[in-house]
Amino acid sequence: MAVDFLYPPYEVIRNHDKCITCRVCERQCANEVTRYDPQHNRMISDDAKCVNCHRCVSLCPTRAIKIVKTDHTFKTNANWTGDTISAVYRQAGTGGVLLSSMGNPEAYPVYWDKMLINASQVTNPPIDPLREPMETKVFLGQKPDAVQRDEQGKLINNLAPQLELSTPVMFSAMSYGSISYNAHESLARAAQELEIYYNTGEGGLHEDFYKYGKNTIVQVASGRFGVYKDYLEAGAAIEIKMGQGAKPGIGGHLPGAKIVGDISKTRMIPEGSDAISPAPHHDIYSIEDLRQLVFSLKEATEYKKPVIVKIAAVHNVAAIASGIARSGADIIAIDGFRGGTGAAPTRIRDNVGIPIELALASVDERLRQEGIRGNVSIVVGGSIRNSADIVKAIALGADAVYIATSALLALGCHLCRSCQTGKCNWGIATQRPELVKRLNPEIGYQRLVNLITAWTHEIEEMMGGMGINSIEALRGNRLMLRGIGLTEKELQILGIKHAGE
Ligand code: SF4
Ligand code: SF4
Repeated sequence: MAVDFLYPPYEVIRNHDKCITCRVCERQCANEVTRYDPQHNRMISDDAKCVNCHRCVSLCPTRAIKIVKTDHTFKTNANWTGDTISAVYRQAGTGGVLLSSMGNPEAYPVYWDKMLINASQVTNPPIDPLREPMETKVFLGQKPDAVQRDEQGKLINNLAPQLELSTPVMFSAMSYGSISYNAHESLARAAQELEIYYNTGEGGLHEDFYKYGKNTIVQVASGRFGVYKDYLEAGAAIEIKMGQGAKPGIGGHLPGAKIVGDISKTRMIPEGSDAISPAPHHDIYSIEDLRQLVFSLKEATEYKKPVIVKIAAVHNVAAIASGIARSGADIIAIDGFRGGTGAAPTRIRDNVGIPIELALASVDERLRQEGIRGNVSIVVGGSIRNSADIVKAIALGADAVYIATSALLALGCHLCRSCQTGKCNWGIATQRPELVKRLNPEIGYQRLVNLITAWTHEIEEMMGGMGINSIEALRGNRLMLRGIGLTEKELQILGIKHAGE
C-alpha cells in the first residue's frame, strides 16, 4: 500500500569516477545493499537496505562511497517528527511492537555533560601522576564497619570476598548469543590483561572461556541459562540480574533461530528453542526472596565469591538499593536508562527508567544516611562514554563503572543500531561465521586494552589535577564537582553546588 512507503533514511552516494568496480562493498555488506550491474559495468545500491554501518565506506579502496542522511522529509513540526510519523505507519502496517538495539537515543539531559570537575591551584597543589604514585586500584565488596584486632593487637582479617580491579572499569554483561564468540574472547582476554573483569551476561559461559574465570563475572538471570555448579564456581563473582537499563521491567528473548550450535550448548537449551528470560525471577517477589537467592549462591560457592545484584535505574531506585544492601549482596550494579541492548522494545527503551547520574547520587546518599554504605559497593553503567564520565561517577559515589557500548565501539562497532538483525557487518552482534571472523580477537583485545589504558592515564591526570592520589579519596567527594545549567532540584539530587559557588 502506498501509505506504507517510507523513504530510506540513508542514501549511498557512490562517486563513479573513483569506483573501480572491485565489488568489495558488495561482498562486505550482509544487508545486501549493493550489487554489480554487468550490463552497465557499475555498482548499484538499494538505499532502503542500508543501516549506515560504514563497513563499505571503511573498506572501499578508492574512497568512492559515502553514506548521507537523506534530506527527504515529511512536513514535520516540533510535535510530529519524521521518526514519530514513520513509527505510526510501520506499526499500522505490521501490528507489531517496534524493536531497537543499543541505548536510548532521545534528547534527554546528559547530566555528565552538566557537571564540571575541580582542579587545585595554590593550596592543596596538584599532583603530577608521572612522578608521584597514583592509586587506581579498587576493591569491590562488603567492608567491615570497624577495624578489629585480636588480643595481641594484630588485625583480624574479617574482610568479605572482594573483587580487585587495577582500574575502576569493568566490561558489563553481554551474552554469548547476543554478541559473537570473537567479541567474547576479545573482552575476556582484555579483562585478564588489564586485571579487571568481564561479564558473561545471561547466556552461560562457553567452555573455551573457563580459563578466564579469574577475570569473569558469571550472571544468573531469570532464564537461568547455562547456570550450574561448575559455571558458578568458574567465575570470580556472581551477578544476579534483576533488571537492565535498556528494558526495565521486562524480560528478554533470543529467537530460536539464533539458538544453534555452541550457543545452544552454552545456554543448555535445545537447538531452535526460543531463549525467553521472564520479566521477574519466578522465585523472587520480595527482598527476603532475593536474600535467599543471594545466600543460595554463596552457599553453593562456599562463601568465596562476592554476589552482585544488578538493577535498572527506576524511580524508587534508592529504596530498592537500600533493600539490596540489606540482602547480603556484596555489590549493587545500577544500569541507567541509556544502557545498551542487543534488542529491546523501542518504546520501553526510550521512555522507561531514569538517568544513571541521578540514580547514583540518590542511592549513594540514601545508603550513607542509613549508615549502610559500607555494606555494598556500587557499580554504575548506562552510557559511560569516556574517562571524565568515570571520574564524575566516582565523585558522585560509585566505586567503579561498567562499560559496554564504548567497549563495542573499541571493537569496531559503528553504532548502526541494527544488532537485533543478527547481521552485524563488524562481526560483533552476529553468529554468522563469515561475519564473526571479521573481528580478529587478537586485534580486538589489544584495542580494548588500549582504550582502558588511555582512560586510566586520563583518570590519573584528572585526579592529580584535583590534588587527589587515589580512587578511594575521590569516591563520593562531591565537592570536586560543580553543576552547570542545572535547576535547584537537580543540584539537590546530585548533591553538588552550581559552578561559581
Ligand atoms: S568498494 Fe569502492 S571501489 Fe569497490 S566497488 Fe564498492 S564503491 Fe567501487
Ligand atoms: S554491534 Fe554491530 S550491528 Fe550492533 S550497532 Fe554495532 S556495528 Fe551495528
